[in-house]
Amino acid sequence: MPLNVSQHPLVAHKLAILRDKTTEPKKFREIVRELTWLLGYEAMADLATRPQPIETPLEPMVAASLEPKVGLIPILRAGLGMVDAMLELLPTAEVWHIGLYRDERTLKPVEYYNKLPDAATVQVCLILDPMLATGGSAAATVDILKQWGAARVKQVSLIAAPEGVSTLSGAHPDVDIHVAALDSHLNDRGYIVPGLGDAGDRQFGTFAGPASEPGHGPDQETAEVVRRLQRDLES
Ligand code: URA
Repeated sequence: MPLNVSQHPLVAHKLAILRDKTTEPKKFREIVRELTWLLGYEAMADLATRPQPIETPLEPMVAASLEPKVGLIPILRAGLGMVDAMLELLPTAEVWHIGLYRDERTLKPVEYYNKLPDAATVQVCLILDPMLATGGSAAATVDILKQWGAARVKQVSLIAAPEGVSTLSGAHPDVDIHVAALDSHLNDRGYIVPGLGDAGDRQFGTFAGPASEPGHGPDQETAEVVRRLQRDLES
């Protein structure tokens, strides 16, 4: 099942605090961390284990240890706030950074940072991005990870828009998407509605101006992408 919307009451409770516009950055970061634990726990529920012989103080037994190596790929910059929480769940995970921006003419994601080694060093990759909005960066990141040789890719986000889910699962139907909520739609500036505003600004306290100003929050050309995605969803 590609889209998994958490049904856990704790997730719903914490998400309400996160969405609230009066929640300050310190509390916001704390809740991003807690939600990442809960969603990460759900996203990794189907990872394979292998038998691991151990000895308890009472007797030998065959326990279990995680089989695949896991890589965390935060989408810059808002995904950075999810990394530490995932590392607390899985301290052996590798963290790989991929930087993408959208070309203003073509509206396509362009890679500006990628230091992945030639061959994949992990089998399962978790893409971390609080907001799955247009899905363009997520789909491009999956392209890169599959080319690298990752056997499985999962997307972990706090909130998704239908447009983002449609783009990502259209391009990569095998990618599981784990979210705390599926919201109504994207507005013409690429914000998820009702959403929580700009996840980067709210985590890092960078409130330089209203979200409607150019250069703050999702950029203007996003409107064109959103219109195209909404036409696709309606057709
Ligand atoms: N990025 C955000 O931070 N918020 C949105 O609503 C959409 C994209």
